[in-house]
Amino acid sequence: MNTQPLVISPTDRLFLLTGAGVSAESGIPTFRDSNGLWCNYRFEDVATPTAWRRDPKLVWDFYSMRRREAVHAKPNPAHQAIAALQHRLADRLFLCTQNIDNLHELAGSPRTVHMHGELFKSRCESCSRPPFDDSQLYQPPAAIPRCDCGAQIRPHICWFGEVPYDLDEIYAALDHCTIFFAIGTSGTVEPAASFAAHAARHAKTYYVGPEPPANLRVFRQCFLGRAGQILPDLFAAP
Ligand SMILES: [Zn+2]
Repeated sequence: MNTQPLVISPTDRLFLLTGAGVSAESGIPTFRDSNGLWCNYRFEDVATPTAWRRDPKLVWDFYSMRRREAVHAKPNPAHQAIAALQHRLADRLFLCTQNIDNLHELAGSPRTVHMHGELFKSRCESCSRPPFDDSQLYQPPAAIPRCDCGAQIRPHICWFGEVPYDLDEIYAALDHCTIFFAIGTSGTVEPAASFAAHAARHAKTYYVGPEPPANLRVFRQCFLGRAGQILPDLFAAP
């Protein structure tokens, strides 16, 4: 099956939203994957501000495990096709991901907005010190790392109940895009699930993923299959 390259005019602006399906093609377990590591944990115990206050060691144990799992993952052809298109279109392409791994960066994407944070970054829970690169494992009996200010260092992750990052910039890009893509994202996690409907008021909307998304009706066209198989043809230079 060959997909015709997408027609992109010189005035088009693209917004790409990527989700767990793109990382899954690189072997990173998805939230709902029953074989995935999440099945051993309840998200209430490891991925909420309440969980952090109650048991920061358990939270760090969980994210240390995810770091260990993700550290050997490699970008797949979907990440590479997106990075190549980004280099071709420069600032006419806005890449927003729900994924916390660094596979877009490893594929060469010049800029990725991580609305749910980054697995390989940490930050102070209290002061304004910016997030910093961190691939350390903090598993028991390791102590919780501390900032110079004395507060605890936490994963740079947007937990359930917290507001996703960079939403002002994301909505500005949605407002100005002419072509919107949802890639490997199920259309169930808000606010990302509403981006397509937001963009559909003025942009052409496309979906790429293995199965129809929950918000299917807001898409003008769906490409069903693996993103790593579809995107290299779809994003090929005409
Ligand atoms: Zn601090």
